[in-house]
Amino acid sequence: MNMYEIISKKKRGESLTNEEIEFFVCGYTNGEIPDYQASALLMAICLMGMNEEETLNLTMAIAASGDSVDLSSFGTLSVDKHSTGGVGDKTTLIVAPLVASLGCKVAKMSGRGLGHTGGTVDKLESFPGYRTSLSPSEFFDQVEKIGIAVTGQSGNLAPADKKIYALRDVTATVDSIPLITSSIMGKKLPSGAENIVLDVKFGSGAFMKDADDALALAESMVRVGNLAKRKVSAVISNMNRPLGRAVGNSLEVIEAIAVLRGEGPDDLRELSLTLASEIVSLAFDISREEGMAKVTEALDSGLAYQKFVEWISLQGGESAYAENPELFPKAKYSHDIISGCDGYISFMDTEKIGATATALGAGRRTKEDIIDLSAGILVSKKTGDAVSCGEVIATLYSNDKNCLAEGEKLYISALEFSHKKPKEESLIYEII
Ligand code: URA
Repeated sequence: MNMYEIISKKKRGESLTNEEIEFFVCGYTNGEIPDYQASALLMAICLMGMNEEETLNLTMAIAASGDSVDLSSFGTLSVDKHSTGGVGDKTTLIVAPLVASLGCKVAKMSGRGLGHTGGTVDKLESFPGYRTSLSPSEFFDQVEKIGIAVTGQSGNLAPADKKIYALRDVTATVDSIPLITSSIMGKKLPSGAENIVLDVKFGSGAFMKDADDALALAESMVRVGNLAKRKVSAVISNMNRPLGRAVGNSLEVIEAIAVLRGEGPDDLRELSLTLASEIVSLAFDISREEGMAKVTEALDSGLAYQKFVEWISLQGGESAYAENPELFPKAKYSHDIISGCDGYISFMDTEKIGATATALGAGRRTKEDIIDLSAGILVSKKTGDAVSCGEVIATLYSNDKNCLAEGEKLYISALEFSHKKPKEESLIYEII
């Protein structure tokens, strides 16, 4: 077998065998196949596509390239949730304790934020003392005891994806459904959960701009997950505006606590309940409607909030902050952005709003950047909202006064206004 033959086969639009796919994944991961040949094959896949069997084989080869987590001791109750990334997406902070309060087992390794999207682990670090790294026995004991542990990524999960993704990122080969499917599911499968719910986002703040492309990606990931014998469902959700009103780490934690206490914005509550109901309906083999009834009851009765406090406290965090969010330190500087016209917000470039939060210190431009946990944005007006001249449309927070002017410029450039109320878009496009 040789790479030249594999590349030319895919260039002609032919299907690759499992042996050829494994040869590429293993050879590239261990350094035997050079970047130029791997890039050529990735570009051929981008242009010619892959069928279902090839996509599954590529996913399995990536999943098998490193460690895997064995959650079999939790039987059919292990669950995981994955979001393709958005702005203001703090649903894990709500969904994880919500489903754990109903008996699901959430043994979750989460990522850190990079670029315009935030990461759950960074948000959790807003709680002083929260331990983002646990030994394997601490991790399993905690899940056994209270049904939930969320840490940063540890071990060597899917090293093939790290290498392949880094190459795709610089060779214009990210936007391919089989490659994205194998990258995401190649990491999800070795994470071990029996039940996986995917939040596939579309819109101006998402990686897939178009709803039908997000749906096609979701269908591909669900198919591959099912072929790999996992229960998988996907919620296709709108990211044409930030989720909730808070963007930035501790601001998002405060908003998630509000939802857990029966307050907080409706869109965040709706998406969290939808994702949680999908998870429990997979884990307990019940209908979507029964799942929704269960999670709504657990959220409204305060059961999920109690589980949240128990989780943060057991994982070393100061749970007093969960009980009294006023304790979270405030950024030294804040700045209101004022509307200069009357009308409606007709469009938000949500990716730019994420970039504004990054400019204020809430996110990383490079992996090494240190984030400012209290920096971010509280969005007062979103797409479809009426605004009057002189009204506050958002408030920026930062510990660096110099960032506020750049932040304001960027935020304003993300908005479009109109005299007519724009057509309403629903939050959930489809569930599969
Ligand atoms: N996120 C991933 O993890 N992989 C992709 O290919 C795209 C988005």
